[in-house]
Amino acid sequence: MVKETIRVYARVKPLGRRQQAGSYSVDNEEPLPSLEITVPRDLGDGFINNKRESYKFKFQKIFDQEAKQDVIFDSIAKPVAECVLAGYNGTIFAYGQTGSGKTFTVTGGAERYSDRGIIPRTLSYIFDQLQKDSSKVYTTHVSYLEIYNECGYDLLDPRHEASRMEDLPKVTIMEDSDQNIHLKNLSLQQATNEEEALNLLFLGDTNRMIAETPMNQASSRSHCIFTIHISSKEPGSATIRRSKLHLVDLAGSERVAKTGIGGQLLTEAKYINLSLHYLEQVIIALAEKNRSHIPYRNSMMTSVLRDSLGGNCMTTMIAMLAMDKRNIGESISTCRFAQRVALIKNEAVLNEEIDPRLMIVQLKKEIQDLKDELALVTGKQRTSELSQEELLQLDELIETFLKDNDPDSSLDVGADMRKIKYSFVHMKQIINHPMTSGNKLLSQDISEEKNSNEELEKLKGLLQQRDNEINILVTMLKKEKKKARDALSQFNASSAGSTALEQSPSMSLEENQSPSKCFSLKEAKVLSSSIPRLPFLSRATGGEMSLGCQEAFEVFKRDHADSITIEDNKQLLKQRFDEAKCLGEKLNEVRNKINHLKGKVIQRQIQRAAQAVSNPSEELTFDPVEENLRMQIEEEKKSYKTVYSRFKGLKVEIEHLQLLMEKVKMKLQKDFEIWWAEEAKKFQQEKSEMVTSPNTVTVYPHFTRSSQHLSPISFSDTNRDSPNEDPAVKKNSVTFGNPTLKTSN
Ligand code: ADP
Ligand code: MG
Repeated sequence: MVKETIRVYARVKPLGRRQQAGSYSVDNEEPLPSLEITVPRDLGDGFINNKRESYKFKFQKIFDQEAKQDVIFDSIAKPVAECVLAGYNGTIFAYGQTGSGKTFTVTGGAERYSDRGIIPRTLSYIFDQLQKDSSKVYTTHVSYLEIYNECGYDLLDPRHEASRMEDLPKVTIMEDSDQNIHLKNLSLQQATNEEEALNLLFLGDTNRMIAETPMNQASSRSHCIFTIHISSKEPGSATIRRSKLHLVDLAGSERVAKTGIGGQLLTEAKYINLSLHYLEQVIIALAEKNRSHIPYRNSMMTSVLRDSLGGNCMTTMIAMLAMDKRNIGESISTCRFAQRVALIKNEAVLNEEIDPRLMIVQLKKEIQDLKDELALVTGKQRTSELSQEELLQLDELIETFLKDNDPDSSLDVGADMRKIKYSFVHMKQIINHPMTSGNKLLSQDISEEKNSNEELEKLKGLLQQRDNEINILVTMLKKEKKKARDALSQFNASSAGSTALEQSPSMSLEENQSPSKCFSLKEAKVLSSSIPRLPFLSRATGGEMSLGCQEAFEVFKRDHADSITIEDNKQLLKQRFDEAKCLGEKLNEVRNKINHLKGKVIQRQIQRAAQAVSNPSEELTFDPVEENLRMQIEEEKKSYKTVYSRFKGLKVEIEHLQLLMEKVKMKLQKDFEIWWAEEAKKFQQEKSEMVTSPNTVTVYPHFTRSSQHLSPISFSDTNRDSPNEDPAVKKNSVTFGNPTLKTSN
């Protein structure tokens, strides 16, 4: 049994360029490293400030601004990963306000390979270790849970691609008779190697990003728990050892009433996130001696982490701190929370259990015993199926019940779970399929009318979207036109007198638009062609992107800051590919050399054997030539090994880079979707304002020609009620509420 307190570390985020540094000092000397934060006394409001000026907090270790990700992994995560490999449970959670670097520390930055965080590094480490140990059979699974507003979502649910988060089945908590927590609807995906596990991590992160909308900035308000489950068994043994490692990116810990330095700094304001408040309550309760009741059940997160906070677990917390002046207050809160966490003592025990097959045999016997007992009490042998006769009886009962207009009537099928279940199923059928179930409560007329109303609503919506789309494009075109005009006038100013390029400032739209279009399309191709698409990222789209929307996307992409990152990574990737190719060639070369040397050794042995036959007096003694060849072979083998391990490392890096690029690309698409939806909303508002002032004329007739690919209906209000039936137009429709995009490969 391992007994120790929760380890608490602090990491200070590097200051931003425009941020003013707060005053703090780090003392990492033994025995207890400490962080001291000084708060200036100036209040400016005339009150005398009696509050303390400087605060000192103790940590296991403090990582200052320049600490790199590999150091963080080695000092914080590796010891926990080792415990998990030995069969204990482990948890690492990052706590701090939004923007303090939690996601950067747990998952990693989206740009550089060296910025990868604790999760990818831990996966790499764990799979490396498992591969080295051949004494046991290991199975590894991962799960990825997001908790938002007390609801759990499975980030690895494959249905994410097609549906919104809210439509997926919620993850719920179940407790068995031993008070163990089970999570219903959270999938455990098997990952047999690092690459598979990394793909799952990226799938989850991408799903998280897609689910986020501007209204719901889920990432700062949700908790994400990435869990690695390992089970091991020695061959022939019935004992299975299971352990899990939770890597938790908590919601932002900022408080509602954000006050300046001094003033109400030490007053406890309300948490934005109630579940963090409950986490704190659990932690306080755990730290108190002789507390028998721990309020785990108050929130989903504390329930999920129940066996990972107080109980059987190696727990580590990283307090994330932003030390610029504006955030010192929040950082002090984070440190105070950390100090409370550091008081908890944990007892980690090995998780061993009996083989489930033995368990099944036992349980089957128990069931049979119970059935026998039941038969004895009721005098009836009970099978799992209801008889035909019983079913008919039930149908009749249900029908009478449904037809009975008396509000007090009830349906009594007896104390038999099978019958109760059947009744519910039967009624569900009647409700869902009234026609086939023989219930003609709903007349056909009603449903037809409903259908046509729905159709009308749909078409109206479509018209609305088309209208918005054109408006956005028109604005974009205007901007492009302005840009070109500015560029031209600049050019004209610099080359005054040159007549060749002088043109009227009112360039036609076509002339104006085409160069930028050519450029962006070409560029877009370059951008996307370099990225191999992963199967999980090809989202099942509800509708294709319309030409207009595509074009807007191309321009958006060209101007987006992330395209630089993509470009940089693309270069890096190319370099890495070249390096890998070189190393591959080198490996082949070395292999050939080894084979060649081996051939020589054999030749030499044959020669010497022949000599021995023809001249038996000469004894077969040590042969320096052969020895020399063997030494050369060993040398080559060594160099093969080094080159090979470099080659392997490069492969992992390449895969990671590819995933990063996918992620940045997804983000770009998402940013576009948000922008697009916002633009649409803006035009919607403008339009409704225009309706109230009928004198305003806002039609851009001269743009019509360049927007030929768009349905002209949106330009004239008179056509509103005759929906365009052109199938091509239909195909190109875009849904504004939840636009889905497809990128060319
Ligand atoms: P949080 O998840 O706590 O809201 P993030 O991890 O998203 O915060 O960090 C906010 C920003 O700061 C991100 O752009 C991230 O890349 C950057 N950042 C955080 N920590 C570091 C660090 N140690 N080094 C470099 N950049 C960092
Ligand atoms: Mg975050």
